[in-house]
Amino acid sequence: MTFRSVTNYRETFKVILRKMHVSQKAFVNGQWVAAASDKVFEVTNPANGEVVGTVPDMDIQDAQNAIQAAATAFETWKFTTAKERSQLLRKWFNLLNENQESIAKIMTAESGKPISEALGEVHYGNSFIEWFSEQARNVRGEIVESPVTSKKILIDHHPIGVAALITPWNFPHAMIARKAGAALAVGCTCVVKPSEDTPLTALAIAKLAEDAGIPKGVLNIVTSDRHNAPSIGKLFCESPLVAGISFTGSTLVGKILYKQCSSGVKRLALELGGNAPFIVYNSANLDKAVEGALGSKFRNCGQACVASNRFLIQDEVFDEFVTKLIHRVKQLKIGNGVEPNVNLGPLINETQFNKVSDLVNDAISKGAKVLTGGKPASHIGKLFYEPTVIIDITENMKLYHEEVFGPVINIIRFKTEEESLKIANGTQSGLAGYFYSEDIKQIFRVSRKMEVGMVGVNEGIISTAEAPFGGIKESGLGREGSHRGIEDFTYIKYTCLGNLE
Ligand code: ADP
Repeated sequence: MTFRSVTNYRETFKVILRKMHVSQKAFVNGQWVAAASDKVFEVTNPANGEVVGTVPDMDIQDAQNAIQAAATAFETWKFTTAKERSQLLRKWFNLLNENQESIAKIMTAESGKPISEALGEVHYGNSFIEWFSEQARNVRGEIVESPVTSKKILIDHHPIGVAALITPWNFPHAMIARKAGAALAVGCTCVVKPSEDTPLTALAIAKLAEDAGIPKGVLNIVTSDRHNAPSIGKLFCESPLVAGISFTGSTLVGKILYKQCSSGVKRLALELGGNAPFIVYNSANLDKAVEGALGSKFRNCGQACVASNRFLIQDEVFDEFVTKLIHRVKQLKIGNGVEPNVNLGPLINETQFNKVSDLVNDAISKGAKVLTGGKPASHIGKLFYEPTVIIDITENMKLYHEEVFGPVINIIRFKTEEESLKIANGTQSGLAGYFYSEDIKQIFRVSRKMEVGMVGVNEGIISTAEAPFGGIKESGLGREGSHRGIEDFTYIKYTCLGNLE
């Protein structure tokens, strides 16, 4: 999908927003509302700085209203049947599918990701709504053998209540769908606080939820600018009306929420930063490894928590892998995501841009060698950075330890499998890890030893609605997607039936 010209694109985009009634208002208790303060903030396109929308800058008063609406709605929603919820989610899924191109256009305009990737994300996000529409009817309890004949032991799942969902900008649709799909399927109601960088996609999918007939108050969207995020987050953590928080974002904010949830012993699911290793062993199929590296690194311009962050290449294949990689990286097209065949868009904002520049400059100043890229692509726009390959990375460089969240492949050379695992596991993060090997014994050994929640063996893109997504160590708590995705939104109740004789 492409646009004939950027001017056409602007017009098309405005029409889409109007058609979808996504503009100016947030969604609380089934109403499209302004902030109580009447304040708004602008949403800009990172590709060119153009204002693409204006949304309410809500504060804790508005968030409180949304929580109250969700709490009231929960009293009814929790007693709907699994079949009813399943059917509503399926209607939502159908509308999301019918409107996939419009959602993708909105997403590209506010996130900068290439339109083909935006469409890919819409498919991916929609797949969670489809998946959880099916899962809703598959939540099963147990009857367990009692030690005495006069008692019966029943175990079943119940919705926790109001779920507050805080989501990031890098996957503006999927991060909401993955959480809200699970929460709604099991009978929870939701208050979503989308990222300040990408609230329009959130409002678009909420509009379609409304059209699908999801009752008022069941799904609420509270938009706010960055300055109100901490107080809204604190309210979510401390409100007695909120039963649990599900957050995807930085480890820093995740830790704040973890602390804040302790006062009410609140249920918490965290999907935080990763620092994924991508290891290529001597036996690897190098062509496949190169393609895997490109997919895993450059999707969304490297701005994904499962993006490979440290490339570990074994001595014997180092030169060949790097040569093949550079050849492919040089073919990547960088530009405004609405233009045809663009592979990389801009970074989302100045903070991200400065971080990427700083990490690369730090490595260069300490002796790392840039093989391609290594600098801003300012001729395209303020937030563009060239796809970069950089070698001779050593432990004293920030790039060795930190999540770059940008289009930078930093390569470390290693000699033995043991050494590769020591480097791979030498981090407090443990989200995803990838490796390429054609040696079956090594495949089992390395998968077992990698300290991560998700392993890609000869595969750079692994996330799907059917599989559990989540990390260990400081990468988070809980799992999203798969049949386990409902666990964060349910509690288990044991009922003892006595005196049965
Ligand atoms: P990123 O650096 O990727 O923007 P953040 O963790 O800062 O990741 O942001 C992810 C989400 O968390 C966004 O919706 C943001 O508004 C929200 N957020 C930021 N700070 C806080 C906070 N202190 N409490 C709750 N939410 C926050």
